[in-house]
Amino acid sequence: MEKQQNEERMLRTQLGKSKLVVVKVGASSLSDDQGNLDLNKINSICVEISGLMRRGKSVVLVSSGAIKAGKAIMSDTLKNGELPSLQAFAAIGQVLLMESYRDIMAGKGYRVAQILLTWDDFRNKTRLKNLINTLRTLIDHGVLPIINENDTIAVEEIKFGDNDTLSALVAVHLKADLLIILSDIDGLYTGDPSNPSSKIISYVPEVTSEIEALASSKHKGFGGMKTKLKAAKLVSASGIPMVIAKGDSGVLERIISGDAVGTIFGVGGQKCQ
Ligand code: GLU
Repeated sequence: MEKQQNEERMLRTQLGKSKLVVVKVGASSLSDDQGNLDLNKINSICVEISGLMRRGKSVVLVSSGAIKAGKAIMSDTLKNGELPSLQAFAAIGQVLLMESYRDIMAGKGYRVAQILLTWDDFRNKTRLKNLINTLRTLIDHGVLPIINENDTIAVEEIKFGDNDTLSALVAVHLKADLLIILSDIDGLYTGDPSNPSSKIISYVPEVTSEIEALASSKHKGFGGMKTKLKAAKLVSASGIPMVIAKGDSGVLERIISGDAVGTIFGVGGQKCQ
């Protein structure tokens, strides 16, 4: 127990040294109860991200929310639930999402860039190389790259909804120092999070089968905990720590400062620098 506490403390203390941070934000952290984009919530994420950038950190944002935003304004005219409608919602909502990020980040002195990806882009060496080159160029020029899956053509994602894995792949290929997944849930719990006897697990040294058994697909967020654990496994195999936390105000700053926020996943025996 004490050994684990020390390990966690060491891991969290090192987060402040992270130079490149990939942040994934879920749709529920960006929208109101009706599904419309909530500009206050987007502003609060942008305050956090620009705060990190001002401290000299490079940030890549993986943002969900396109389908939800499109649905909120188009569900009267487009039939909900059908694949072409979901793809159309994504196409409409992505513009709204990026417009909000662009305007809000501009107010904080930063430009944003949109990158839409499919799984194929990671399988094809040339495309992957181009992707990494573009991301590095944007980062080097102080621009915030904002990534989403290209939902209008990526059929599997609309079925399974998984920007968690996408953010992990981006972190791995960019050799990021840290992946932070912001959600509507505080972290990984020992049981059903709505049950008061469930406790948050602050440190997961390794995603074992016992840990995987804790994941339930019942959580409100699109990807649920299963995909977050899959993301943790992916990044930890590359020595990158991951934190799942609730997208509350000040959360990124607290994570970077080493506070015991959310759940941190270890780096599978590989020590972060
Ligand atoms: N790419 C989807 C969207 O922007 C969300 C997928 C996810 O949340 O994992 O609506």
